[in-house]
Amino acid sequence: MSIAVYPGSFDPVTFGHIDIIRRASIIADRLIVGVLHNSAKTPLFTVEERMEMIRRAVSDIPNVEVKSFSGLTVHFAREEKASFMIRGLRAVTDFEYELQLSQTNRKLAPDVDTVFLTTNLKYAYLSSSIVKEVASYDGDISEFVPDFVAEKILEKYK
Ligand code: ADP
Repeated sequence: MSIAVYPGSFDPVTFGHIDIIRRASIIADRLIVGVLHNSAKTPLFTVEERMEMIRRAVSDIPNVEVKSFSGLTVHFAREEKASFMIRGLRAVTDFEYELQLSQTNRKLAPDVDTVFLTTNLKYAYLSSSIVKEVASYDGDISEFVPDFVAEKILEKYK
């Protein structure tokens, strides 16, 4: 059975992430979305809130689980017995950082590979930070995130 992890901050989950989760769930028998506990960043949503939103957004996909982790992604992947990690690539700007990250991870854990999925062009511009910025100025984010996520973001900025 192939197990994959899809790590990220998901603060909050967007249609871009959901698209990657759907496609990755076809490639892997079991996909574990890993929500990062990062003490260096101040997120808008708690880890629990972020996990709950992802669970709700992909509740129709049976082979997807959502967990939280802290520390190195390769340690998380090993704990979950995953043979690969999924990352999404939006634009060339993602590439340099993602390449460096995947090569570092390969050094740390040669048994865990990184698989890149290129973004659906519809969502190539989309990031959690852009969504938060638009929402903070009272802009329409209905094209970027599911309705229930948009409501939660607006509550935070009220
Ligand atoms: P980070 O790990 O930088 O905090 P995120 O949590 O926002 O990033 O995203 C996790 C993963 O999802 C990363 O691989 C990122 O490239 C990918 N991703 C984010 N937004 C999109 C999008 N719109 N389309 C495809 N992949 C995306």
